[in-house]
Amino acid sequence: MGTAVNEAVEIWDSVKEELKKTVPETSYPWIMPLEPVGFEDDKITFLTGASFAVQIIRKHHYKQITDAFKAVTGRDIKFDIIVDSKKSEELKKQTEKINKKYFDKETRERAMDNLAIMQSAANLNLKYKFENFVVGENNKMAHAVAYEVAKEPCKKFNPLFIYGGSGLGKTHLMQAIGHYIITHYPKMKIRYIKTEEYVNELINNLRMGGNSAERMSKFRQKYRNVDVLLIDDIQFVESKERTMEEIFHTFDTLYNKNKQIVITSDRLPKDIPTLTDRLRSRFEMGIIVDLQPPDFETRVAILKNLASHERTEMPDDVCEYIAKNFCDNVRELEGVFNKVSAYASISGVPITLEFAKSTLKCEENKKKITIDEIAKVCAEYYNVTIKDLKSTQRSQTISLARQVAVYLTRETTGMSYVNIGEFFEKKHPTMLFSYEKIKQELITDRRLREDVREIKQALKLEV
Ligand code: ADP
Ligand code: MG
Repeated sequence: MGTAVNEAVEIWDSVKEELKKTVPETSYPWIMPLEPVGFEDDKITFLTGASFAVQIIRKHHYKQITDAFKAVTGRDIKFDIIVDSKKSEELKKQTEKINKKYFDKETRERAMDNLAIMQSAANLNLKYKFENFVVGENNKMAHAVAYEVAKEPCKKFNPLFIYGGSGLGKTHLMQAIGHYIITHYPKMKIRYIKTEEYVNELINNLRMGGNSAERMSKFRQKYRNVDVLLIDDIQFVESKERTMEEIFHTFDTLYNKNKQIVITSDRLPKDIPTLTDRLRSRFEMGIIVDLQPPDFETRVAILKNLASHERTEMPDDVCEYIAKNFCDNVRELEGVFNKVSAYASISGVPITLEFAKSTLKCEENKKKITIDEIAKVCAEYYNVTIKDLKSTQRSQTISLARQVAVYLTRETTGMSYVNIGEFFEKKHPTMLFSYEKIKQELITDRRLREDVREIKQALKLEV
């Protein structure tokens, strides 16, 4: 175990002894197996495999436990409990791996501390690694750059700014960088933060009176004394001058020391209204990469990857059915996968196409978007008419609007090119060509990606 976690384990052992004076034995099974996995700022993070433990402890034993911490250490130690039996197993495996990899104690402890701190800040997401990230046209570039950053932190791309819609893998990719560095550069200090929590912590620190200078300096140290800072969801930054100022200085301190910074956001820096200009220009200094919704093949690959990871039999036709009906983000795709596999396992039946269809029927109906709607929104967006789209006109704007409509129809409805062609009154090879053209251009053309994003938003497709 890492040094900080080690300290937590030691304290916890004594606290458990102390608790025996106040806690009835019937509650031991909830409290005694709690396992410290993180320790920072006088806050211990515990892991439990028993989901009831959290409620029971919060309701009946919170004060007893904090009192016992005070009695043992003289400090006001707070604690958090994370439930997950499966993740608890994974965490054990991961720490064993580090144990095997590093013989020297100090290196090992550093790696363990990094892991514990990142995991407790991220509420345990051990699967967010490069090995579990499926690469497709939609994320090829972002993946490649993230991997470079992980392999050579602080060298090439700094800062790395990853943007993309919700559920497309930003957090996954960012933490993959973290996990890679933890195991390959154990001496580096890594910190992962959710912007919202960082802002809350900052505000709390400023609000508390008393020894505020000392407290602020501790807070700053925490974020400026690292080799790699991962800032998730920067769009949640507050417009408060003070917050900006703080992030700005943290950024500059790290940047000037040549430390790696990675930022994620659901949009480009220029589209985050709360950012000050100078912070925005800092974020644009390095490299900006984006994540797009996965195409059909990548969606199928993601489902297959999930199936093999979860050791679930999911036949090809089921994967394809799901991939066709759930298009826009990976989180949703995973949700659907989990639903089908959970229902099948509860009912004790194998997953077949029929089964998947009957399980997912309601979701499928709910989300149906028609070619008419897509054509209408595309026409409006590019300021042309549906009649133009159906015409043989080839002006640049009309062609583009038509091609985007074809692309979106194929991606979201899975309609055949023949049927799409019937709607636009064109031959099906033309439709195929339009689809492929947009698909290719989306890879390199940021402007087009923004167009497609906005159109999807208008169609209420999640982006
Ligand atoms: P975001 O942070 O962009 O909202 P997440 O990183 O939380 O999205 O991703 C949502 C879910 O989808 C996560 O469970 C993640 O593991 C999964 N996911 C996203 N992209 C991929 C991918 N390319 N391969 C495998 N899983 C992915
Ligand atoms: Mg995220």
